[in-house]
Amino acid sequence: MIRFDHVVKTYPRSTRPALDGIDLTVEAGEFVFLVGPSGSGKSTIVRLALCEEKVTSGGLTVAGRDLTTIRRRNVPALRREVGTVFQDFRLLPDKTVGQNVAYVLHVLGETPEAVRSAVPAALETVGLAGLEHRLPHQLSGGEQQRVAIARALVRRPTLLLADEPTGNLDPRTSLELVRLLEEINASGTTVVMATHDDRIVDTLRRRVVQLEAGRIVRDEAAGLYLRAP
Ligand code: ADP
Ligand code: ADP
Repeated sequence: MIRFDHVVKTYPRSTRPALDGIDLTVEAGEFVFLVGPSGSGKSTIVRLALCEEKVTSGGLTVAGRDLTTIRRRNVPALRREVGTVFQDFRLLPDKTVGQNVAYVLHVLGETPEAVRSAVPAALETVGLAGLEHRLPHQLSGGEQQRVAIARALVRRPTLLLADEPTGNLDPRTSLELVRLLEEINASGTTVVMATHDDRIVDTLRRRVVQLEAGRIVRDEAAGLYLRAP
């Protein structure tokens, strides 16, 4: 599903690489935590996989596409297949929950009938049935993040990339949210989640890839968070 092959990423006007020789393979169906201190390169991995940034050198394949040679007109198809969830939810504030989830389907040219059935189904999956007419500010942070997940799920992504999705949530809500990501993973979607949340990592015991200054220093099945001493 994802393959980084000796990837180096140096941002413009930057002296040291953000990623410095990353080799990482994520198979279809896996659930992977990316951990590491702030600035270690977690978000850069997510941005490269979404083709928001290009590798400086090395190979990168995501969902069967070579991102080092992908044409610009094919990037939307990649992003359709890869769902994303971010720390700050990124909902449209003046659109209802239903409109937020439906928006991408309209953009993709789905029929109104298809949208009318897909939106309630996605909201039901994330436990928000019946909240379609609320505005984002009328929901709790955890509920808003569930809307963001519903919005990612309506496109039936094969891969879900989550960058600090629990960063703005309290511990209990965070755990509920990550349990939802586990269910989504159990139904076949590959999940990669960048996180600082040691409690969640230690509770779920999934594969842990640890970054330090742009390098992978640990890649462990059923790992713990393990703080640097
Ligand atoms: P993390 O997500 O682990 O906090 P990032 O991937 O955001 O780490 O950052 C990795 C490194 O790249 C850091 O040194 C950061 O300062 C640098 N960096 C991130 N984005 C940019 C950018 N747009 N331009 C220049 N440097 C950047
Ligand atoms: P085509 O398949 O006809 O080349 P594209 O939409 O792939 O059409 O690209 C249009 C132009 O933009 C081409 O000249 C291509 O080289 C360039 N291009 C494509 N992707 C990028 C990119 N990520 N950054 C800069 N230029 C790009």
